Amino acid sequence: MNILKAKFKIHGGVHPKYRKELARDEETKRLPLPDILRISTTQHLGAPSKPVVKKGDYVKKYQLLAEAAGFISAPVHSPASGTIKDIVTGTGASGAPVTEIILETNNTSDAELTGVYPTDEWQKLSPETILNRIREAGVVGAGGAGFPTYVKLSPPPDKKIETLIINGAECEPYLTADYRLMLEHPECLIAGIQIICKVLNVTEAYIAIEDNKPEAIELLSKYLEDKKIENIKVSTLPTYYPQGAEKQQIYSITGREVPSGGLPADVGVLVENTGTTVAIYNAVIKDLPFIERTTTVSGYGIETPSNVIAPIGTPYQELIDFCGGAKDDVKKIISGGPMMGFAQATAETTTTKTTSGLLLLTAKEISQFESSPCISCGRCIAACPMNLMPAELSQFCEAEDFESAAANRVMDCMECGCCAFSCPAHRPLVQHFRTAKAFLRAQPKK
Ligand code: SF4
Ligand code: SF4
Repeated sequence: MNILKAKFKIHGGVHPKYRKELARDEETKRLPLPDILRISTTQHLGAPSKPVVKKGDYVKKYQLLAEAAGFISAPVHSPASGTIKDIVTGTGASGAPVTEIILETNNTSDAELTGVYPTDEWQKLSPETILNRIREAGVVGAGGAGFPTYVKLSPPPDKKIETLIINGAECEPYLTADYRLMLEHPECLIAGIQIICKVLNVTEAYIAIEDNKPEAIELLSKYLEDKKIENIKVSTLPTYYPQGAEKQQIYSITGREVPSGGLPADVGVLVENTGTTVAIYNAVIKDLPFIERTTTVSGYGIETPSNVIAPIGTPYQELIDFCGGAKDDVKKIISGGPMMGFAQATAETTTTKTTSGLLLLTAKEISQFESSPCISCGRCIAACPMNLMPAELSQFCEAEDFESAAANRVMDCMECGCCAFSCPAHRPLVQHFRTAKAFLRAQPKK
């Protein structure tokens, strides 16, 4: 039997309205190539990549646009052939300034593409060659964090990885891109998992899926059975948020607790996102750089909720138009999921390798109430999967007493939003913690 139930229950968590039915059953569609792409050099965690093209250059599809600028960084490639119109400072989804390469695209024949070297014989490639392909393809964590995958797959020699977990939980409400990917491309996902197993010399892998996705569980289980693949199992998780968080998923499946300030490698585990695993497959077997991704465009404010494959650098407005346009009563646009995503002031921001969702929410979907003082109900404490004291932490942050916030483990906050979701006073808890963490990260290390 290749379906196992996760054995351990995580602390805290919440049950938001999932609303996955909006886009879940629609087959993934491809966006026609936009005329203009604005490609950010901040597509990942770490140093922004450094442009290697200039205004007026003609570039071919897959050509390098910006090179990695350090160990924790990743290159960015052109999603289409065309002319570089400019390189400017724009605004990223988080509101931070970013460098954008503006590309006027043209649809060219495949003969004009830069050389790619697919291989059916990836098993013959050495782990070093595979890792190089992943690094050169600019693969980063597609789940949201954007950590460069090459770095993640290179743990220090004293941290032996024994267990690989592929995160197919997709626990954020509305988002269904990973779900569609599991249904539509199981062969790419499984090949991607086998590639990671080879790089890490791991023999045991789990695909973690919440039990609200029975079709994906059944399909992948049958695929593994038909292909007689025994080292990969499907692990079903109870449906609640944040079941897809790395530390929580590791605990649910293995019972191992990642120490405060530690990494999954400290307990011999590596967690990789479903979309990232398929990007690894594309990089290694097809020799294709990471130039496009599937984004869920959803919410009651969009005419036709859908999962859309779009090139990186696509303006959000193009996605909205492709999905039938916005309805009149849209009150909020969110990049990502509603729990961890970023509210957008305009639809002019562009997609990156980490744009998992674009949500257009109406008044009935968003909180109607203004924030009010804390009533000490303790609900945020019960909801916090990291066993933090959000109410107290937020008071330290409001008083700008970041030292006390640090002493009370604000850096362990994973910004999952469970506390804010539970708070009857609608306290802006996550914003407080983001501010404190940014302040503390900017301090010189003692
Ligand atoms: S956002 Fe941070 S403090 Fe709030 S529940 Fe999540 S981990 Fe806990
Ligand atoms: S849930 Fe909100 S009101 Fe209740 S203790 Fe936490 S911060 Fe205060």
